[in-house]
Amino acid sequence: MLPDFELCCSEFEHFGLTLSEDIYRKLDIYAEFLVEYNNNVNLTAITDPEGILVKHFIDSILLSKYADIPQNSRLIDVGTGAGFPSVPLKIYRNDIQLTLLDSLNKRIFFLQQLCDKLGIDAEFIHGRAENFSKLPEYREVFDVSCARAVANMSLLSELCIPFVKVGGQFLSMKGPSEDISSGENAVELLGGHIEQIIDYELHDDKRRIVAIKKISQTTTKYPRNSAQIKKKPL
Ligand code: SAM
Repeated sequence: MLPDFELCCSEFEHFGLTLSEDIYRKLDIYAEFLVEYNNNVNLTAITDPEGILVKHFIDSILLSKYADIPQNSRLIDVGTGAGFPSVPLKIYRNDIQLTLLDSLNKRIFFLQQLCDKLGIDAEFIHGRAENFSKLPEYREVFDVSCARAVANMSLLSELCIPFVKVGGQFLSMKGPSEDISSGENAVELLGGHIEQIIDYELHDDKRRIVAIKKISQTTTKYPRNSAQIKKKPL
């Protein structure tokens, strides 16, 4: 399904990454299962081998190049969809302790089958982020929360920052067009601080990672319920 090993190696090298045969084999199984499953369940609009390689897999793995994710981090991927960015990241960085969360059960079901095929150990949560981060077993226990293409900065901060322990980080993967400053107020109110904005290119596409450090606890009034979050963004 993926382009051949040599071509994939040169794409990885182009982005400053290395690719082993074992990782290639796992990514290839992932690509094949994604495209097959996508015939019945809507998971992705990108289905060509080169697109999956660069726009899904390499983009996801670049998170560990541009952001500092400590060894053995407990990481939650909020609104993970078909597993991006965290499943390619886990394939690349097996030390990560992975939790996958999505509000759509059909996507969680896909991920369970995928992780089974790949021998990936992960925790799966079907539900809305704003409900689960209120529960003591998920609140402020993660070293890292991350999200790609889920919502604007203000809304996303309310979904993701409550999961992170003080000293941990929220890594938001975005396109370049959003005005990040409009989310600064939300970030601060939730106990975060924008530490770094990393701009990079995926061939012709511009991408951005916003790295937010959790500097103080999130007050118990956040997150609010989804209607309030949407109606009155912070
Ligand atoms: N992160 C993946 C990616 O980059 O391909 C999926 C992005 S998709 C556009 C957004 C995903 O976020 C969907 O799978 C949706 O079900 C999920 N989602 C949106 N709001 C959510 C919430 N409040 N809690 C949990 N999942 C949510």
